[in-house]
Amino acid sequence: MAQLSVNDKAALVAGATFWKTVAAPGIAAITVSDGPHGVRRTPDSGQDFGLGESLPATCFPPATGIASSWNRDLVERVGRALGEESRAQNVNVLLGPGINIKRSPLCGRNFEYFSEDPLVSGELGAAYVRGLQSTGVGASLKHFAANNQETNRMTVSAEVDERTLRELYLPAFENVVKREQPWTVMCSYNRINGIYAAEHEWLLTTVLRDEWGFTGLVVSDWGAVDDRVAALRAGLDLEMPGAVPDSQAAVVAAATQNATDARHLDTSVERLRTLVERSTLETGPAFDEEAHHALARTAATESIVLLKNDGVLPLESGRPIAVIGQFARSPRFQGAGSSQVNPTRVEPALDALMLLAPVEFAAGYSLGAPDPALHDEAVALAEKSDIVLLFVGLPEGDESEGYDRTDLDLPADQLELIRAVTAANPRVVVVLTNGGVVSLEPWHDDAAAIVESWLLGQAGGGAIAEVLFGAVNPSGRLTESIPLRLQDNPSFLNFPGDLTSVRYGEGVFVGYRYYESSSVAVRYPFGHGLSYTSFEYSDLQVAKDGSLASVTVTNTGSVGGKEVVQLYVAPPPSDVRRPVRELRGFTKVWLEPGASTRVELALTSRAYSYWDVESSDWVTAGGDYTVQIARSAHEVVLEQAITLHDSRPAEKLTLESSVTAWLDHPVTGPIFRRATGGDVVEGGANVLDMVGSMSMRRLLRFPDVPVTEAQLKALLVAANNPIVRGIARVVGRKR
Ligand code: BGC
Repeated sequence: MAQLSVNDKAALVAGATFWKTVAAPGIAAITVSDGPHGVRRTPDSGQDFGLGESLPATCFPPATGIASSWNRDLVERVGRALGEESRAQNVNVLLGPGINIKRSPLCGRNFEYFSEDPLVSGELGAAYVRGLQSTGVGASLKHFAANNQETNRMTVSAEVDERTLRELYLPAFENVVKREQPWTVMCSYNRINGIYAAEHEWLLTTVLRDEWGFTGLVVSDWGAVDDRVAALRAGLDLEMPGAVPDSQAAVVAAATQNATDARHLDTSVERLRTLVERSTLETGPAFDEEAHHALARTAATESIVLLKNDGVLPLESGRPIAVIGQFARSPRFQGAGSSQVNPTRVEPALDALMLLAPVEFAAGYSLGAPDPALHDEAVALAEKSDIVLLFVGLPEGDESEGYDRTDLDLPADQLELIRAVTAANPRVVVVLTNGGVVSLEPWHDDAAAIVESWLLGQAGGGAIAEVLFGAVNPSGRLTESIPLRLQDNPSFLNFPGDLTSVRYGEGVFVGYRYYESSSVAVRYPFGHGLSYTSFEYSDLQVAKDGSLASVTVTNTGSVGGKEVVQLYVAPPPSDVRRPVRELRGFTKVWLEPGASTRVELALTSRAYSYWDVESSDWVTAGGDYTVQIARSAHEVVLEQAITLHDSRPAEKLTLESSVTAWLDHPVTGPIFRRATGGDVVEGGANVLDMVGSMSMRRLLRFPDVPVTEAQLKALLVAANNPIVRGIARVVGRKR
């Protein structure tokens, strides 16, 4: 550090090029690349963003797909493979995973994110980082934070209250940071309550480092820094992509004139040095393309969610099928934007299906301008066929980084094709291709089966064939609710906000937390997914203190399969409004037909608590909680109640406390109730209820209240004495 001038240091805290950091004496330059579901390594000769120019790499299923696997081990294996590919291409930090919450189904980048639920996002994000970093390649956990839309993403302010941040938008980051210490965290473009993420000291330092113990480096999203000195002070270490001369000069000036800024600069340089030191591994051997393609295929099979099946699936191999839909021939397997991988190869579903059965194909629609001839040809094929596999979905331009969707609909010509094909043939299996959820209305009831195949990466075609023919039993579950109507989504009226801000008016009631709490019907709930076998649950046991739940799962069908065991907690009524149930644990198990297994799920106090704004802490309200095993957020199959004590600090009674607090207090309550002779009803209303929220000091101002402030103050001494309070509580209980 002593050898470096202020100028050297200011240069080090910004990129040298789009993908490289600056070198200085004793500090080598390192290379970063996108991320997240494949390595987008641009050639060293390229100086810019390099979309479409990257070296070939395996395109694994994007997060929207692989999240549906609910399989931590699988995600970890993919993370490891990504690490090997990064090593082979001399990439030191891979820019992923993206773990933002899917607040609205319209977010153009939902394909890059895991879920509407923070537990799923955090657990799978942690698995990804674990796998990746085990190879000596760093992760970049992104986009921190509250980056839940693309509209105005560089400027919009997410107006979100602290409880919602703590319970919904931060826990996935907290989980990954605390457990896996990603080498870097990438701050988002947007502002949070008016302050740019890049300049948000509370976010980047108070929460991320002081509370969660993050020891790595904070990097900006590409172009996210507005005021470099403010960002440095807030805890943003590295500005990417490159040095902005004015920023650099401002950093030099600040560090020269101000000792605190000089210290901030030294700290950031030190973090960069540590990151570089961690990145010492030599370039790895070439990666095994075959093995990684096979892993991408396995991952894709587990990503598929069988939404509906009237019995038509699995298909019988060897029996002729009609395949309709351009997507079967030209698959869309990843989303647009910075995450786009140049795949080592691509496996269309049509080719894979042709290996399993005689196939007749019709494109049905064009991914360019509507083509009526293609439509007619496809309907004629449907009419004469025994069974139809109909591939439909969102064209590439419909969802992307940089902009949001405005509706959930499939293109009009494809909707028309579904209508005509299902009218012509009763055995139509609709296979969907989409990053974010699409509406299944109004054709849902006309399809014999619906397969949600998301974006599955380069091996998706083979995976679809394996699932359709039953070589693999589908085991994906939704990590995002599919609403009946866009208008039902809780963020509908507050998405994407206006030019400058977006109000997170639904608070913690995102996705199923809203649908379940408000009894709003959805087409398919969070957690839903069918299998070719059936699973039964029995014997749920929950430890008295709620720290452990165990349940027996049995495969009651005739084929082996994987089941996702989902555990939710339903809280008692409390002072704050809470979702009726929240996912608090999950695991995935494989069971042969007839086999049973005992599954244990450990729970911490966080499973029961909420963020208390008053005490700035997690608290558990005392009362009866229900631990639930469910097939989805909507379908509870077993439950058990437990009673938990209040973890909240006993509130001190004061003259400002409400009349209700005085009446509920173990010392003052009985005295007051005796004095008033119980309920006082006047004009049909209970007077005590009417004045319940009034502070005691205010009540004293009313005529005819037969106590004085001095008397109450004397009583307060006894009421706030822990021994007196304890005795009063015991006496009260005995009565
Ligand atoms: C994206 C990041 C990405 C970066 C570098 C940004 O536009 O938001 O996710 O890692 O570009 O490509």
